[in-house]
Amino acid sequence: MTASAPTHQAKGCILVAGATGFMGRFLAEASLESGKPTYVLVRPSSLCTSKAKVVKSLQDKGAIVLQGLIDDKDLLERMLKENEIEIVISAVGGANLLDQLPLIQAIKAVGTVKRFLPSEFGHDVDRANPVEPGLTMYKEKRAVRRLAEESGVPYTYICCNSIASWPYYDNTHPSEVTPPLDQFQIYGDGSVKAYFVAGSDIGKFTIKAAEDPRTLNKIVHFRPSSNFLNMNELASLWEKKIGRTLPRVTITEDHLLAAAAENCIPQSIVASFTHDIFIKGCQVDFSIDGPNEVEVTELYPNETFATVDKCFDQFAMGVDGQVVKPVAAAVGPEGVTTKTSSPVVEV
Ligand code: NDP
Repeated sequence: MTASAPTHQAKGCILVAGATGFMGRFLAEASLESGKPTYVLVRPSSLCTSKAKVVKSLQDKGAIVLQGLIDDKDLLERMLKENEIEIVISAVGGANLLDQLPLIQAIKAVGTVKRFLPSEFGHDVDRANPVEPGLTMYKEKRAVRRLAEESGVPYTYICCNSIASWPYYDNTHPSEVTPPLDQFQIYGDGSVKAYFVAGSDIGKFTIKAAEDPRTLNKIVHFRPSSNFLNMNELASLWEKKIGRTLPRVTITEDHLLAAAAENCIPQSIVASFTHDIFIKGCQVDFSIDGPNEVEVTELYPNETFATVDKCFDQFAMGVDGQVVKPVAAAVGPEGVTTKTSSPVVEV
């Protein structure tokens, strides 16, 4: 184990695994902003890649870097003990979900971790039933839930729904790429609604929930009413931002199912989630009334969420105030793996 900065002795230490990833970065930054001593677990291999920059930027904000893998139980046990970690947040990607099983065993063995948040950050995986190959990913997330519950590890499951962005169905990974500028692809009749939450808010409210006694052993659903839109509304909002209308092409249910059935990973996983959200309505076909679930805006009624309108403003304005145009489709309902798509500035 190597730590790149002196160990904090303060209480309430948070460890974020997967902080160099898309979702993990929002979580690590929110933890640092909250003023909590924040450790980030980084795979040694990451330090030799472009991700070293992400690590450096987190370090500059005060993060303490620990090197290792979450599937190394003995190492994790030592790290959790030595650094007095009280909250463990995992944001490993879709390909590494089962790596969390040894992490849970380490948390159980140490016995001092007050909360574990597994890599969820999407839908309620015990409720939603996407077609394959998305279902396999949910089965893995379910297996992680079951082990945490059976081990008696105190947990919180964050079901934040979709990240605020354009939900391209053939996307490979969410990243900061803009909505379309040529035509809209509307799923079905475009009337099924979903919740779109800014990444920074996913981070902020996850950190709040992680130390909130009301969320112990509960599922936290994110349903901010200001961010509840369907495809037609998203398209109209984007048209307002760019000051022109775009043609709308219908992507049928059959088309989405065929894209999922191609089993081309990760795009087919995204197609299966897109089908689940915008055809089947998996984010809205249930009410939050179970004894083990809470809704985030009810927990924090005085807090506001960044609106989709505001997020689209940021997409519409490039750094120089120019409209930014996507090179490749790049936003999905629940991130799966990486493919970078670099935005270019439309002259
Ligand atoms: P990424 O692939 O972007 O990042 C995964 C991170 O996990 C990387 O930092 C990676 O490290 C790290 N990692 C993987 N395996 C290990 C391991 N064994 N030990 C230590 N670190 C490891 O993942 P995402 O951010 O896309 O996904 C995270 C979660 O968020 C998933 O559950 C996903 O479903 C969800 N999600 C939801 C979205 C939504 O719209 N609701 C959008 C995006 C994600 P390294 O840098 O070395 O590769």
